Parts: sequence; C-alpha cells; structure tokens
Amino acid sequence: MSVKNRTSLATRVIHSGHEPDPATGAVVPPLYTATTYVQDGIGKNRGYDYSRSGNPTRQRVEACLADLENAQAAFVFPSGLSAASTMLATLKPGAKIVAHEDLYGGVYRLLAQVGPAMSGCKVDLVDFCDIDALTTAAKGADLLWFETPSNPLLKIVDLTAVAKIAREVDAITVCDSTFASPCGQLPLDHGIDVVMHSATKFLGGHSDLLGGVLSVSENAKDGLADRIGYLQNALGAVMCPSDCALLLRSLRTLALRVERQTTSAAFLAEKLTANAADLGIAEVIYPGLATHPGHTIATRQMSNFGALISLRLMGGLDRVERVLTATHLFHFAVSLGSVESLIQHPASLTHAAVAEEHREKISIGNDLIRLSVGCEDTADLAADLEAAFSQR
Ligand code: PLP
Repeated sequence: MSVKNRTSLATRVIHSGHEPDPATGAVVPPLYTATTYVQDGIGKNRGYDYSRSGNPTRQRVEACLADLENAQAAFVFPSGLSAASTMLATLKPGAKIVAHEDLYGGVYRLLAQVGPAMSGCKVDLVDFCDIDALTTAAKGADLLWFETPSNPLLKIVDLTAVAKIAREVDAITVCDSTFASPCGQLPLDHGIDVVMHSATKFLGGHSDLLGGVLSVSENAKDGLADRIGYLQNALGAVMCPSDCALLLRSLRTLALRVERQTTSAAFLAEKLTANAADLGIAEVIYPGLATHPGHTIATRQMSNFGALISLRLMGGLDRVERVLTATHLFHFAVSLGSVESLIQHPASLTHAAVAEEHREKISIGNDLIRLSVGCEDTADLAADLEAAFSQR
C-alpha cells in the first residue's frame, strides 16, 4: 500500500515499501534470494518466474523510490552508470542528445565517448544555466540530460525552464539528481520526465553498495516507463536482491542523514567563506551562499542546499595534495553522500576521464577540491578542516 501524497517524505522513507510481510507480520520484509520460481502450469505462476524479470525485494525498493519521487514507476540498476546506459538505450540510433557541460566524469565518458561509438548518438555539451544557449542547442534534440547541483561545480539548473524548453522541441528530459537526493529536490514535480540517481551516494548512504535508479514521471511520454522496464530485463541491468534489501533499509534513515549533512554543510560553507583568506581558500562554491550564481533558483526549487562544497585553494598542487592528505575525519576518497565525510580532487579522480580541453574550458583545475559532508559532529568537522587548511 502506497503512502504517497498522504505523508511527508520523512515518514515515507520509513514506511514506503516497508509494509509488514503479509505472510508472517514481520516488520522487516523478507529478502528473496531465489533466482527461479515454481510454475503452477503453463502460463500459470504466482507473479514471478525468474528473478531478473521480477523479484519481490526489488519491487519493494522500487515502490519506495517511486513514492519518494512522486513517480509512476522506478527501476533500480546495479550502478548509477548502468541506470544511465539503460536510459540511453531507450533512444533511437543516431539520436541527438544535449547534455549539461558540467557532469560527473563517468557520465561524461558514457555520453561523449561510449554512446556515440555504440549507437551513433550525437552529443552537444552546453551550459544549461545559459537558457538562451540551451534553447538554441535544444532544437532537434531527442534528449536533454543534466545534473543539478552539478558535479563538481555545483551549478544550479532551473528545472522548470528546462522542462519548458524540452516540451517545445518534444525532447525527453533526464535530471541526474544524485547530489540533491529526493530530500533535496523533486525534479518530476517541476515537469522533468525522468529523474536519475546514483544510489551509491545519498540513497545508500554508507559507502557499502553500488546502485542506480531511474524514476519516471506520470506525465512522461506514453510507454517510456514500460520501455525502461523492458530494457532493464532485456539488458540484464538489475540490482541484486541483497543490495535491494540493503538499499531499502538505508532509505529509512535518508531524511535524518540528509538533514544532518546539509545543516552541517551550510554551516561549514559559511565558516570557510568567513575565514577564506586565513585558510588559503580562493573560492567557496556552495549553492546556499547568497553569492552563488544559482542561489535564487536553488532557493526556489530545493528544500536544502545539499551536502557538497567545492573549494578553490591557493598555493598550487603541492599545497592541494597536503590538504587532501592532512584531514583526519574527511577521508581522501572519491564518492559522496555517505555518513562519513570525504574530500577529493576532481581533476585527477572523478573527472580524469573528461577531455583536458573541456576541463580547462569549464574550470575544473588542479586547484579545485570537493568536500562531501557526512553525519559527524559539525564542530569536529570544522576543526578537522581548519587544522588541515592552516598547515602551510
Ligand atoms: N551521477 C553522478 C552525479 C555521480 O556523481 C556518479 C558517481 O559518482 C554517477 C552518476 C555514477 O554512479 P555510479 O558510480 O553508481 O555508477
């Protein structure tokens, strides 16, 4: 039973998909590991025949995610990139994709390198914050693909404006909402067709599972959700049942985790900004700062400003490396959204696959570092950063 539209997100993360097991009353649903199901006759079964085509544990986590996003349906995949490649497989060969210029390096590689080689799609990279440029580029497009906030520059894209442009040219919109989580924004409510997540990040939240999600709007083109479901099975891109159960369990604390993480991030961004000169910081990038170019749009479409902060450091690559290895609570590691805080260097890690000219064009330089704020005590995190940045 869905609790959609009757309760707040903080309640839904705990109850949706977590309804007690009808057979036993267990308040935690059983994990179905079976790969195959006994058939009662030809064409007669109890809803399942083979686990790739349907699995009760996967159905529960998909029902929960669809409910959180206000979607008609959600599909879970073995990784965020698997979700993205399944979405690309819905397109006709030679399709035109217009993508935001600031994207996670792996998605950039998929769109700019792998997609064109596999399906002949054409990909234009434009700044989705420049609405005039996007309007021009979108002519003849089949798909508009973007992240907001984007990785790693935390650019904010106007969801309603993109949805409007897409409707005018009859293109499908995909918003990668990984950096916001459903607790930060609900892109489908702003007219976007498909919301994507790397469930590896906030949704899983503990750096112990890989996963991806596509959730499809009630208002998306007829047949799109069915096509994604068909391809999930046909391509074999399914999340394994034990990860589905782990994800369903992790989602129960999503609202609590994100509230803590985003409150701490807002505090740290203000503090780092106030002490930037002393800490050798040239720029603090955080959508919650009034100086951020996307602050007004973020205030309108987000319920918090996220748990990611990007910084430009003074002092060259040597100093950047010293800072990256000097923090104790912020682990120097890729990924984000977990309970533990992380610090990383996009140019050499998450965005190493991005062509050097493109990195230069959009200013992902060696001076840029990215923080993912976890659930630790805020004052402890502030002290950790201050100690690392103060070392000269
Ligand atoms: N989208 C964004 C914004 C990401 O940051 C990532 C990974 O960092 C992905 C997609 C890819 O997800 P995964 O690593 O789960 O394949």
